[in-house]
Amino acid sequence: MATTTPTDTTPTTAEAPRTFGNYIAGEWRPSAADVTFDDTNPAREREVVARFQRSTAADVDAAITAAAAAFPAWRATPPPQRGEIILRAALLLERRQAELARLMTREMGKPIKETLGDVQTGIDFGKFVAGEGRRAEGDTVPSAIPDKLCLTLRQPLGVVGIITPWNFPLAIPAWKTFPALVAGNTVVLKPASDTPLSAAMLVEILIEAGLPAGVLNFVTGPGGTLGDTLVTDPRVAMISLTGSTEVGRHVAELCGRDLRRCSLELGGKNAVIVMDDGNLDEAVAAVAWAGFGTTGQRCTATSRVIIHERVADAFTERLAAAARDLRIGDGLDPETGMGPLVNRGRVGAVHAYTEIGEREGARLVTGGTPLSDGELAGGAFYAPTVFAGVRSEMRIAQEEIFGPVVSVIPVADYDDAIRAANSTVYGLSCAIFTENARTAFRAMHDINAGLVYINAGTTGAEPHLPFGGTKQSGNGHRELGRKAVEEFSEIKTVFVSYPPVK
Ligand code: NAD
Repeated sequence: MATTTPTDTTPTTAEAPRTFGNYIAGEWRPSAADVTFDDTNPAREREVVARFQRSTAADVDAAITAAAAAFPAWRATPPPQRGEIILRAALLLERRQAELARLMTREMGKPIKETLGDVQTGIDFGKFVAGEGRRAEGDTVPSAIPDKLCLTLRQPLGVVGIITPWNFPLAIPAWKTFPALVAGNTVVLKPASDTPLSAAMLVEILIEAGLPAGVLNFVTGPGGTLGDTLVTDPRVAMISLTGSTEVGRHVAELCGRDLRRCSLELGGKNAVIVMDDGNLDEAVAAVAWAGFGTTGQRCTATSRVIIHERVADAFTERLAAAARDLRIGDGLDPETGMGPLVNRGRVGAVHAYTEIGEREGARLVTGGTPLSDGELAGGAFYAPTVFAGVRSEMRIAQEEIFGPVVSVIPVADYDDAIRAANSTVYGLSCAIFTENARTAFRAMHDINAGLVYINAGTTGAEPHLPFGGTKQSGNGHRELGRKAVEEFSEIKTVFVSYPPVK
């Protein structure tokens, strides 16, 4: 099989999907095994959007070798120059935003307004974190001893392995890669196999922005083999992974054996609490967006509504009506409200939870079926689904479904609501709707989650603010925000003595 370089082929069309190599040591090349896999459109799974290398451990090894070789020169590059490259990449993303959003919709299905937002996150964070190259990177502090100065410096770690999921195909690779590079690390990026195209576009843009050969390397293929190779190689100083809690636990165990730094952003089971004084119109709109947007496949998606029993029925009826009103279809159609799941395999996985919910005694109010009529045939579509009368201990109220399924859980009062909200193993995002300031302030403290929203849904990160979860939603790190570069660097404390010469 011959591979082509992404820069010398025309943009992807349904008729002529491009074949991408791995990007290692400054060149696009076929994998050692010389086998490819198809990146398909979940709205029409027979449509191949692009082809990628089904790489092996040998390719990861080559990528790590390239990254290790490039590290000394990149480490020596002044941080402001590293930041300039990220800024240029952000401006290139801005110029190509519409094209990249269309490719992303074809690759993973979410509607075009959402994929424009995904690219926008990359742009905004790129502009923000580029400036970190010019800001002070440490502290200068007095010493307890005369004629001594103490200061801290930030040092890069070395080779960083970045492993990303498919639900934010460009934003997440960008929000990890940009700060890792500004901090002076070299990178091996392994994207999810459902969405390698958006990540390849980001690599292409960083190359165009001036990144030297070997500083960023890109390898596609199965997470199990490639991931394990990357995670256990002694030349890799840090792993940054966003994905499921199950994979995160496995990666943490492997990293733990070598005491390798590992930053994990994992699953969620996010709740919106609605008090009886909450604004129901706003709450219904927020849950419809946060529960069914991205077809329920955001890590911060609302999958539970914990609601005061006095307003539970009225809310459920209105949410079900909003679900039925959603137009389901190809995300490239600007009228589409909800696209497909990421692949056909996910349809079965989501439907299994509908069956579990029914067996557990929850009441299926709307949805609960795969959709395949008319233009939906051949796609991974699932109806937006609402369960009522859910109890907090049910599996559909505890486990991450990662699909358009919202469980409505009635409760008697605020304390019950907080208990239910905090009852899962996850702690990513949680919201409360109330008009009572005292209740809102109490909730800010009582909710155990990394992200808390008052009178808004559970989704919506801002790149200049930290992002991450508590409990099994992560391992205590935060991404984005001013600390993003710190996550990818090491502090060195320096003591300088300058007593008079005797
Ligand atoms: P996943 O865990 O299946 O895969 C994530 C990445 O890990 C992929 O690139 C995959 O190839 C790779 N991988 C798989 N097995 C591996 C292994 N043994 N070693 C190393 N890497 C391996 O997750 P997904 O299905 O791509 O994404 C959905 C999950 O991601 C959900 O649980 C969601 O909540 C979570 N997520 C979390 C956040 C967050 O910031 N907390 C953001 C987005 C998604």
